[in-house]
Amino acid sequence: MGALSLTSGAPGGRKGRNVYDDVLTEQGYVEYEFVSSPKKQHQNQALRDAFHYGLPLIYFRGIRKSLFDAYFPVWIVHVDEEKKRVLLNIVDGATPGGRLDLTFSEHGALPESEPAYGEHVVRTRLHQRDFRASVMYSYRTQCAVCSLGHARLLDAAHIVPDRDGGIPDVNNGLSLCKIHHSAFDANILGVDPNYKVHIRHDILNEADGPMLKHGLQDHHGQPLRVVPQNRNERAGKDHLEYRFSQFQDA
Ligand SMILES: [Zn+2]
Repeated sequence: MGALSLTSGAPGGRKGRNVYDDVLTEQGYVEYEFVSSPKKQHQNQALRDAFHYGLPLIYFRGIRKSLFDAYFPVWIVHVDEEKKRVLLNIVDGATPGGRLDLTFSEHGALPESEPAYGEHVVRTRLHQRDFRASVMYSYRTQCAVCSLGHARLLDAAHIVPDRDGGIPDVNNGLSLCKIHHSAFDANILGVDPNYKVHIRHDILNEADGPMLKHGLQDHHGQPLRVVPQNRNERAGKDHLEYRFSQFQDA
C-alpha cells in the first residue's frame, strides 16, 4: 500500500521541515528526506511503494502555524536510496484546492514524460501560492476594500510591486477583489498607511453607472472594511507609505 500524504512543517514550527528551507533540485523537484527513526521505516517503504505503483500523493505544505495548503496530486519522480530521499513533482496537476479526479498513471510513465520546470520557476510558484494562501487566510477570504467574499474573485495583491523588490509576504499583501486589485494597480485606488481608501480625483468627479459610484467613489475616505485580526499580519505601514506616494503622484 502506498503512502497517502506528506507534510512539510510550518515556519517556526518545531516539527518537520521549514518551508523556506525547501530544497529544490535543478529541475524543480522538491527533495523529501527519508525518516531516520528505525521505528518509522515503514513510512519510507510507503514512499517507495507509491513510486513503484505510480500512486498520487497529497502534499501538505505548512504555510504558518496550523495552516496547511494541500497539493494534490503530487508524484514521486525518483527514489534516491543513496541520499535517502525522494524527489517530488508538486507542480503538475497540483492545482490550488486540489483536483476532483484521481488520475492514476501507469508505472514508469511519469518521470520521462514530464517537462522539467527548473528550480527558479518552481520556487517562484511555491512562494506565490504560499503568499495567496497566507493573505486569503489573514483576510478571511474577503476583499479588504469592499469585503466581497468569493475566493474566485479575489487576488492576493502585492503592495510594493514585485518589480520594486516587494516580497511575497503577508505584510506586503492585501486581499483585493478583481476590480479593486486592478484599480489599485492602476493607481485609481490608493490605501494610505492608516488603512484609509482613496479614489483618484478625476475618477471621483466622473459621472457614470452604479459600478463607478458604489464600486469606487463611495469607498473614498472609508477605512478598509477587512484587516487581519492579528496585528502582525496587517499590511506594513512602510509598504503602504511607499505605494501610496506612487498613487499620489499618479
Ligand atoms: Zn473589492
